Amino acid sequence: MSGRSEGASGRDTAVYQADTFVSLLTAALERHLPLWRHLIHDLAQVPKIEARRAGWRPSDAEAVQALLLSYLSAMTDWSRIQAALEQIRGVLPDWTPRVVASLSPNEITRLQRWFLDHRLGSVLLGQQLRSLPHAAVILDRMSREAGSVDAFVHKAQQAGTIIELLTTKNSEWKLPGVGVALAAEFLKNLGHDDFKPDRHMLRMLGPSRLNIVGRPSQLETRRWGLWMAREARMPAAQLDQMLWLYCARGYAAVCSARPRCQECLLASACNFPKSLRRGQGEASAAPRHPFTRLSHGRGKF
Ligand code: SF4
Repeated sequence: MSGRSEGASGRDTAVYQADTFVSLLTAALERHLPLWRHLIHDLAQVPKIEARRAGWRPSDAEAVQALLLSYLSAMTDWSRIQAALEQIRGVLPDWTPRVVASLSPNEITRLQRWFLDHRLGSVLLGQQLRSLPHAAVILDRMSREAGSVDAFVHKAQQAGTIIELLTTKNSEWKLPGVGVALAAEFLKNLGHDDFKPDRHMLRMLGPSRLNIVGRPSQLETRRWGLWMAREARMPAAQLDQMLWLYCARGYAAVCSARPRCQECLLASACNFPKSLRRGQGEASAAPRHPFTRLSHGRGKF
């Protein structure tokens, strides 16, 4: 690790390099979730990125499934979805965009009932399923434009415009119900390396906790994740999943909505335990904040 000094607020701030952060996160996962490497493999996104590098390309039907799984990843206990993936893939006989685009309201209601009967999905489920045929119309248009959904996405990914195309309101390729986080999830499901700035990341990396991302918007947090992974020479999707596993219900669940800070190896660098101590009237004995705003050569996040 090497550091440099910043003059923010008239005091030098230690700057941690990516390797240090990743080493600490790895040690924390080893302690709380020893099988984390297997879990990342089972989550299948990192293996898909490797498969893509080896020549695999998703079909249009797989792209529709990838989008549905992205929808389902929002506000849910993913471990339940993960356990039912095969069944979910079997709920429709044909996942091609044109067929899914033509699903009737009755068929959507039947699908919703299936998910509810299996206790899968979040409060967003009905809205997500109703969005699916509309999204499939757009995926079908992408396929006709570029030869396949994957070819369209790949081209926009190479041009650096894919997030904007999928999420900006006035884009003709905007997918309903998809913001930056779900767009990144969709890309990972297609085997593209990306970083999903979901609610866990925003909370953990934002000012009230590790204070690494100063403005914890989805765009800024994704930008930080992509930068950090590049610095650490690892897939962004792997960094994303390491952080996510540390936070998520059904996995380590350490940095969750009610964090278990006494057990956390990152606690000395985190604002949250300090604010708790202040709330209890104790003077903070924590060391100075070692993670404050990582240096990434483009100003602070
Ligand atoms: S100390 Fe608490 S809030 Fe901070 S990263 Fe660890 S678990 Fe999360």
